[in-house]
Amino acid sequence: MPSEIAKILSRFPRADLMGSQPTPLERLNRLSDQLGIDLWLKRDDLSLLGFGGNKIRQLEFYLGDAVDKGADTILITGAVQSNFVRSAAAAAARCGMHAVLQLEERVADMDPLYHSSGNVLLAQILGAEHIRYPVGEDENGADDGLHRKADELIAEGRKPYVIHLGVGHPPLGSLGYMAAADELIAEMADWDDVVVATGSGSTHTGLLAGLNILRSSATVHGICVRRSADLQRERLAVVFEHLAKLLERDEAEIAAGNTISDAALTPGYGKMGEHTREALTMMARVEGIFLDPVYTAKVFAGLIAKVRSGEIKPGAKVVMFHTGGTPALFGYQSTLAAL
Ligand SMILES: *Cc1c(COP(=O)(O)O)cnc(C)c1O
Repeated sequence: MPSEIAKILSRFPRADLMGSQPTPLERLNRLSDQLGIDLWLKRDDLSLLGFGGNKIRQLEFYLGDAVDKGADTILITGAVQSNFVRSAAAAAARCGMHAVLQLEERVADMDPLYHSSGNVLLAQILGAEHIRYPVGEDENGADDGLHRKADELIAEGRKPYVIHLGVGHPPLGSLGYMAAADELIAEMADWDDVVVATGSGSTHTGLLAGLNILRSSATVHGICVRRSADLQRERLAVVFEHLAKLLERDEAEIAAGNTISDAALTPGYGKMGEHTREALTMMARVEGIFLDPVYTAKVFAGLIAKVRSGEIKPGAKVVMFHTGGTPALFGYQSTLAAL
């Protein structure tokens, strides 16, 4: 029998980019002992397409919509080492489309490897076209850049599909994480805490909405990777408003229990602090698993801080989403070599 979430999602066009299979869920035995909790990792870094990561689930609904609309080219914007743009290039290839990736200068003072290795290299192999955008804190400006390029493509007789960065558009990416909530609860339902990155908010809002619809009692901890908790709360309010509209559900129901922490954000987006370094090396050296420097190392740092402060209780059953991003390790080689 299809779950309540599956019924809701069946209304939306979807491209199968996950190979119709769940990502692995594994218990981290040694870290569980060290932290005094029952710690599990949901390995969304291991989704099948193009080095995986959380954007693959999100892209199932964007590409579904693009195919539905007859598009032949996907346009998307992100930081130079964006996993989203690399994943979109892989998804476009899988669906027989072109990809135009706009790279924004969002992180100051980075070296040539940052601009050529990791995700940049992978996108080149995938055959995507790169365009540049000079600043990184202007979401609407970046979206305008995509639309200017889209207009050029239309004049050439092409059919572009823009995946927006700014809020205020239907949050199709959140639908992918409602599916992830459904998958997680089907695997195990008795979670005390779910820990996840909150950046654009698609992952966080989708998970929270999905878990609320499934009446899970878990606390969902959004760990800020991009902006302060206050700014993130404002952003998520807009995403939830549009998600409620898209789902035709009550906004208060899907957004209930929204918990946000920015304790692990310093020194800022795309930069590693002391706690981020500690978290990245701890996961590697205790469990042999790579986190990424921009997102998941901050998330694990946030999780450790919450265990140490007692906000996550001793013995709690906790799942952290590994949302991917490991190709960026190679773009951050100089930063990481100093470990
Ligand atoms: C994009 C990204 C995130 C943040 O997800 P959002 O849905 O944008 O909030 C987290 N982890 C990784 C590895 C990402 O690439």
